[in-house]
Amino acid sequence: MDAVLKIGGVPVTELKERYGTPLYVYDEEKLLHQCRQYSQYFSCDAFDTEVLYASKAFSCIEMLRLVKNQGLSVDVVSMGELFTALKAGISPDRIYFHGNNKTLEEIQYALDNHVQTFIVDNLQEAYLLVEEMKTRDYVLHVLLRINPCIEAHTHAYIQTANIDSKFGIHLESISQIVDLIQTLKQSNHIVFDGFHAHIGSQIFEKEAFVKEIETMFSLIDTMQKKGILCNTLNLGGGFAVHYTNEDQPIPISVFSSVILETCQKMQELYHTNIQKILIEPGRSIVAEAGSTLYTVGFIKKTPHKKYVFVDGGMSDNIRPSLYQAKYEADIVNHMDQKKTEIVCVAGKCCESGDILIDSIALSPCDSGDLLMVYSTGAYGFSMFNNYNRNLRPAVVFVKEGNSRLVVKRETLQELVRGDVCDEDPV
Ligand SMILES: *Cc1c(COP(=O)(O)O)cnc(C)c1O
Repeated sequence: MDAVLKIGGVPVTELKERYGTPLYVYDEEKLLHQCRQYSQYFSCDAFDTEVLYASKAFSCIEMLRLVKNQGLSVDVVSMGELFTALKAGISPDRIYFHGNNKTLEEIQYALDNHVQTFIVDNLQEAYLLVEEMKTRDYVLHVLLRINPCIEAHTHAYIQTANIDSKFGIHLESISQIVDLIQTLKQSNHIVFDGFHAHIGSQIFEKEAFVKEIETMFSLIDTMQKKGILCNTLNLGGGFAVHYTNEDQPIPISVFSSVILETCQKMQELYHTNIQKILIEPGRSIVAEAGSTLYTVGFIKKTPHKKYVFVDGGMSDNIRPSLYQAKYEADIVNHMDQKKTEIVCVAGKCCESGDILIDSIALSPCDSGDLLMVYSTGAYGFSMFNNYNRNLRPAVVFVKEGNSRLVVKRETLQELVRGDVCDEDPV
């Protein structure tokens, strides 16, 4: 084995030299592969299908361009994500706007840009849309977000469909659902297409999706009996990825066919008229393609631990501190050495909880070595924060031995660009 790890054919030492650390590194071929897998497997004869990339997992212009070129659509949850998608040249009819508390400003911005589909979360939003569409002359499509109340076995913070979830309308609140759809129908510029549900994230069980589909078709059937017809069902995202060796995600090919076959079965059972099935993978497109490269700084022994400190931490990857997310890592300039040391990989932020990996076997390392944490491609960069006024790392894409910068490292000047100084009154 080579001593120095290569990503996309580029040695990590070269990445460090050229771009510095910490550095988000994406293997472009892996990103493309995931997009292609979704396009290939999430399709069938019985339904039209559409794969929406949940851009909150990792959004920057170059990533969204890649997604667009692969023929995927995009979902966004804020004005910032929408702006990024538009900047990347994504057509507004391939953009889906989510959110439980879209502000008036965001709603108007989305409508000004003719975003084609809103996933409406609640009745107040429906009223607002009806009001706004009075002065506009395009047709807005709407899906209604339902809380299907499915317990997926995942961390409480990334569960979204428990009974008191803040997202969507509980599926048993039939009169609320009917009210909302009737409200939308007051506008002849709004078309109600159907329902959306999203049951959580990092889900390993196919059964959870089967249950979701059964639940949603049963609702569609109930609505049909009340004279409310649906043609579209959006099943959300949440497909699990590999973070550590304990994780065994279901291949895209497998859950795609389970989902589509279950939909077909339910369609036959209930004699419904769903024409289009959507899914919204975020994490599973980007997580494994991304990793974070750090430089080892100081090393400290305490009575019971050995710490390896790196030049980043919870500012570039908050997931371990936020919900005990687990990762694998290596000393990537010593790949040929045995992993003989059990260490704690900690960041440089002023929080005891700023631990990236609590306990991991690594090869012996010293200050100046390179440590790479794998599978950080989802919700790493996108959850970056400036805690301790750490600068946002750069993002590079690597492919076939070449690397290219897609997001520049933040500078000190950019860090204070919004700060108002005494000498510089507003
Ligand atoms: C976060 C989210 C997704 C993507 O979830 P992943 O776990 O990243 O696949 C999809 N749809 C909605 C509504 C979401 O909130």
